[in-house]
Amino acid sequence: MSGLFLHTLREDPADAEVISHKLLVRAGYVRRVAPGIYSWLPLGMKVLARVEAIIREEMDAIGGQEVHFPALLPKDPYEATGRWTEYGDALFRLKDRKKADYLLGPTHEEMFTLMVKGETSSYRDFPVILYQVQTKYRDEERPRAGILRGREFTMKDSYSFDLSDEALQASYDAHREAYQRIFARLGLEVQIVSAMSGAMGGSASEEFLAPCASGEDTYVRAPATGYAANVEAVTTPAPPEQSTEDKPEAVVYDTPDTPTIETLVAHVNGLGLGRTFTAADTLKNVMVKTRLPGSTEWTLLGVGVPGDREVDMKRLEASVSPAEVALLEDADFAANPFLTKGYIGPVGLAKNGVRYLVDPRIVTGTAWVTGADEPGRHVVDLVAGRDFTPDGTIEAAEVREGDPSPDGGGPLVAARGIEMGHIFQLGRKYAEALGLSVQGADGKPTTITMGSYGVGVTRAVAAITEQHADDKGLVWPAEVAPYAVHLVIAGKDPAQAEAADRIATGLADAGLEVLLDDRKASPGVKFADAELLGMPTTLTVGRGLANGVVEVTDRASGERREVPVDDVVAELAGLTGRA
Ligand code: ATP
Ligand code: MG
Repeated sequence: MSGLFLHTLREDPADAEVISHKLLVRAGYVRRVAPGIYSWLPLGMKVLARVEAIIREEMDAIGGQEVHFPALLPKDPYEATGRWTEYGDALFRLKDRKKADYLLGPTHEEMFTLMVKGETSSYRDFPVILYQVQTKYRDEERPRAGILRGREFTMKDSYSFDLSDEALQASYDAHREAYQRIFARLGLEVQIVSAMSGAMGGSASEEFLAPCASGEDTYVRAPATGYAANVEAVTTPAPPEQSTEDKPEAVVYDTPDTPTIETLVAHVNGLGLGRTFTAADTLKNVMVKTRLPGSTEWTLLGVGVPGDREVDMKRLEASVSPAEVALLEDADFAANPFLTKGYIGPVGLAKNGVRYLVDPRIVTGTAWVTGADEPGRHVVDLVAGRDFTPDGTIEAAEVREGDPSPDGGGPLVAARGIEMGHIFQLGRKYAEALGLSVQGADGKPTTITMGSYGVGVTRAVAAITEQHADDKGLVWPAEVAPYAVHLVIAGKDPAQAEAADRIATGLADAGLEVLLDDRKASPGVKFADAELLGMPTTLTVGRGLANGVVEVTDRASGERREVPVDDVVAELAGLTGRA
């Protein structure tokens, strides 16, 4: 350690919100260069290299072959698939000296498709799995949490190329299993959830989430059936339709000073209608605007949800993707005077030709308390399918713990996680856009079907920290630790230094990497650093040496025990499983 390029910090970085960001900076693994852009120091590089090695081994084991693409890419292929515009502001676009358009690759479907197109011609060339471990660029709107969400980050991305749907399924399954092995070896607990494929298009898609309080993804589970999905992918079971005939007539009431659902419910309950209304009986109409990629024009959209639920912007975004969505601003209300803020109703929207999509719970025959399109007025018993007809349904309402599982598996339980991996069946979208078709066994042209699979490599380093670290510092699982053993020379007695040297050599011969703390620092500083740096095992050569023992501490459990100095190499070599 006296020669290690390492500087630990006592204080958390001011901009750090999550534990991995705090600790990886404090322990000298990474340094911030700009928002979402980090440098890696020697200890960090070692962890990163181990994570990459595990991923490569498991990809090779399913027949993946490693290739490498540039990060700096020409516009054309991305123009051909529409993603030059569809990717929106998250794409780093730039021009070369000749004013030609380039981008920094956010993901490489186009490039892989073109590579395979260039190198293959017949069905005999398939199946193929190609992968790379590469730097990606995304101008994330909220780069936060250090390397958990970077604007420059490392991803392992692989792509499968198959002749048939069944073969694609096999490639997908192979990846799914490889990912389970990868995350197990990384020491990451993961939950596999169904996912939306968002801007990618395609069908079957699952995410590997690392459960963790600081995770940005919310997912739900039905413990009874094992159903698990990212909230963005949860579908709302629609209740049965009802008759419209037995419903009371819609009546408009004066409801002054009822800008919120709460005040509205209180007011309606005071009307003496002989019924008790709750927030779930009201229909809240949230006005947003959407814009298709590449377009400058925003279009109004009304979103109707039961009044006891908020609109979940992430679910709404996923539902309208690849279009962008934004809430209406005052200027939009001013430009559309028929929108009576606080009193917007389905009837007014229909009259003015505004597209109106509703939560799947709003089925034909359901009666609602909702805006009457006049200031201070609401309508009671506005019946779907009788008094208004939505243009369709939309998954935009928040998903709540206790909601019924879409597979009938009872009430949902919610949790948060970090998206560590994503696998999906792209199908023929990219192959069609870029003309990847080969001669089939029957002599006819066959369009290749593809899968795309990503793992966040740099993100994994942070996620491992999130799941394992404690208030004293980092805690590395054995397979990714920069060093297997942190060997501390506690005192100044030359006999301790000598014994430590001997042990270090013995451990190295047994194949274990040792970080030897030979610095002229106090034992307190050394122990604190050992805890901060997080090697799985600390071995202390101190006063006990006089009695022929050294102390072994397990970083994760904090358990300490004395071991005879002559046995320690053999014992640790057996313990760590690295040898
Ligand atoms: P997110 O929803 O977190 O933005 P994504 O769905 O856009 O991720 P994918 O395109 O599926 O991500 O990328 C594959 C993997 O790359 C993700 O599962 C994640 O582990 C990692 N990843 C994506 N964006 C980032 C980022 N900004 N920083 C670090 N890792 C990332
Ligand atoms: Mg994803």
